[in-house]
Amino acid sequence: MALAAGPERQIGKLVITNIGLMLSGALEAPLLDADTIVAEGGKITAIGKRADCDIDDARVKIDAHGCALAPGLIDSHVHPVFGDWTPRQSQLNWIDSFLHGGVTTMVSAGEVHLPGRPRDVVGVKALAITAQRAFSNFRPGGVKLHAGAPVLEKGMVESDFAELAAAGVTLLGEVGLGSVKAGDEAQQMVAWARKYGIQSTIHTGGPSVPGSGYIDADTVLAADADIIGHINGGHTALPLRQIRCLCESCTRGIEIVHNGNELAALTALRYARELGQMHRVILGTDSPAGSGVQPLGILRLIALLSSVGEVPAEIIFACATGNTARLRKLDGGLIEVGRAADFVLMDRAQHSAGKDVLDSVRQGDLPGIGMVIIDGIVRCGRSRNTPPAERIPEILS
Ligand SMILES: [Zn+2]
Repeated sequence: MALAAGPERQIGKLVITNIGLMLSGALEAPLLDADTIVAEGGKITAIGKRADCDIDDARVKIDAHGCALAPGLIDSHVHPVFGDWTPRQSQLNWIDSFLHGGVTTMVSAGEVHLPGRPRDVVGVKALAITAQRAFSNFRPGGVKLHAGAPVLEKGMVESDFAELAAAGVTLLGEVGLGSVKAGDEAQQMVAWARKYGIQSTIHTGGPSVPGSGYIDADTVLAADADIIGHINGGHTALPLRQIRCLCESCTRGIEIVHNGNELAALTALRYARELGQMHRVILGTDSPAGSGVQPLGILRLIALLSSVGEVPAEIIFACATGNTARLRKLDGGLIEVGRAADFVLMDRAQHSAGKDVLDSVRQGDLPGIGMVIIDGIVRCGRSRNTPPAERIPEILS
């Protein structure tokens, strides 16, 4: 995604030292033995012990004061419209509020909340291209919102997908939210989209709001979209045996959302673990939604899955970062040289019973965010939304 004009054009060297705990975002090795990170030009250039990193000549120096650093969180499932506004709950600045919940990247599952959204093919394409352009040029708080996700409508033909791809569209909105709901019809369009490099997500479960549809496991498997969108329903979930079937019968992404059925979320997580498929688990909020707009939705989902789901917090953080980046081919999500310098600095919330930040999440508490960095630029200090962290990072220069 193109950077917005402005200070991003002149990103200098960023050095963060005294990191107490570094989460990699990678499921296979979720914790790194490192206390220092260096970024230049918005990309990570070094990770390691302070003595082994070149920390001179930094434009911005940050003392993490022992806070944990994780890759910026990725919300795999949002429904933006235009600007930092949602008509679903008539809210302004919701994307900026998610930044304060540690989210640095969002993926649109369709701009379907636009009042009077077009349903004819030319209108669907025009809206998708416009949304893709608009959110490439407009990044509230620096958040990277990958948008321009058309939903499938009857009458779309192969050349429509070629045209969308040539115009810069890389995503489909949730299959099932438009007029195409049958498995075989969806499969054909998903395959056309894939042929032109457009990634797909399918709505799973009962209708979310009036006008949305019911999609069962057979339809999900037939359509073969890249991501099983909200496998735990949005909010109405499929019977658990169908969720099991989806985890067992294909290799597509298993997306668990905040605005879904919590029992189904925890059960899907358990199935994925039992089947050795944790690399497929990614997290989203599916907001704005009927149940609201949740700036801390990804953190709340991490805490739920780690505490009640009994999975180490660093594993669930990897689901919310590196897993999503890998499945969706995004530039952040992992603490690796060459990746985008998108970081969340956090600590145990004040008065949490947990002995450290990971233990506090394991006990169901939310961490306190002290700073969020996107493309090597500090975007916010102490979060206005999380409980206050015990320690917060300090900008030294
Ligand atoms: Zn949906």
